[in-house]
Amino acid sequence: MMNQILYKQTLSLVLSLCVSLMTCYSQGKHQKPRNIILMIGDGMGVAQVYSGFTVNKGHLELFRCPVAGFSKTYSASHYITDSGAGATAYSIGSKTYNGAIGVNSDSVSCKTILEYAEDKGLSTGLVSTSAITHATPASFIAHQKSRENYEGIAADFLKTDIDVFIGGGINNFCVRRDKRDLTHDLRQRGYQVIFSMDSIKNVTEGKLAGLTARGHNPSVTEGRGDMLPVATQTALNILSRNKKGFFLMVEGSQIDWEAHANNMAGVANEMIDFDKAIGRALDFAEKDGHTLVIVTADHETGGMSILGGDLQQGIQAAKFNTTNHTGVMVPVFAYGPGAALFQGVQENTDIFFKMMSLYRIPVGSNQPE
Ligand code: MG
Ligand code: ZN
Repeated sequence: MMNQILYKQTLSLVLSLCVSLMTCYSQGKHQKPRNIILMIGDGMGVAQVYSGFTVNKGHLELFRCPVAGFSKTYSASHYITDSGAGATAYSIGSKTYNGAIGVNSDSVSCKTILEYAEDKGLSTGLVSTSAITHATPASFIAHQKSRENYEGIAADFLKTDIDVFIGGGINNFCVRRDKRDLTHDLRQRGYQVIFSMDSIKNVTEGKLAGLTARGHNPSVTEGRGDMLPVATQTALNILSRNKKGFFLMVEGSQIDWEAHANNMAGVANEMIDFDKAIGRALDFAEKDGHTLVIVTADHETGGMSILGGDLQQGIQAAKFNTTNHTGVMVPVFAYGPGAALFQGVQENTDIFFKMMSLYRIPVGSNQPE
């Protein structure tokens, strides 16, 4: 009799555990991603997002993300951050001074999430429409006291084991004051060094240094074409071969520059282009099921306001309050396992720690290396 009661109780306990486990699983609450794609729209505030949405006649791939939140972007030195401190907050988890690249506010080098991912055996990549040595991508791979030290940043690429990088900046690798040709060093390290997107897009394995312009790539308005979505797809093709997982940072670099220039149409064009890359990332994540996509910005640029528009005709009316960055919070969108962690209002540095915990990489506070 006692045995029967015990049996029934145990059975009901096991059943209820199964049900709650299945509920958790279906809601994705305890799933952790293998891969993280961090996408940074430089200067992309809510108005820049909505500008792209409006001119694209009421459609953005970005809005497939079920989770949204905000990121507070102030730096250690300034109420209004620059792109160096803004990206470094995401890459090392410390607020630092404006102009810093992968160093904390004491100018001490800290290991970046890309370097942590490499140590864990994951594949890593960087894609941008600017020079790949520019502040945003540089913050994930280089450690420099000043963002202006482009040649030092290029040399730092060789101190890592990064698998794929695609962007401009050829001159920082091979037209240098120290006369070194780093493309030679890269080839010796086994990289395919390729200068045209037509060839870059065919690479599906191995290490790839894709350098597509001497300096920055042209803007969309000037004819950059589909470089960013194609480069994103290429990086995904290569990185997804590693079954342990990968970390990829993709930057829509020039939303910021068009906003600095107070060019309303330019902002929309760059936003729509970045959104095409976001679409490639979301398509990959949807199929893969083990990929988290986070889309955010380092800061807002231009104090952009949308004052009117027509979603059917794709027409916008906008104004700018400044040719510089502003201090407003920027949006954070997320899709995939772990996405729910990114809702609410968070410090930009929190994004680093959330990504690290999802990778199960232990880090209490990111100490200098
Ligand atoms: Mg940038
Ligand atoms: Zn800027």
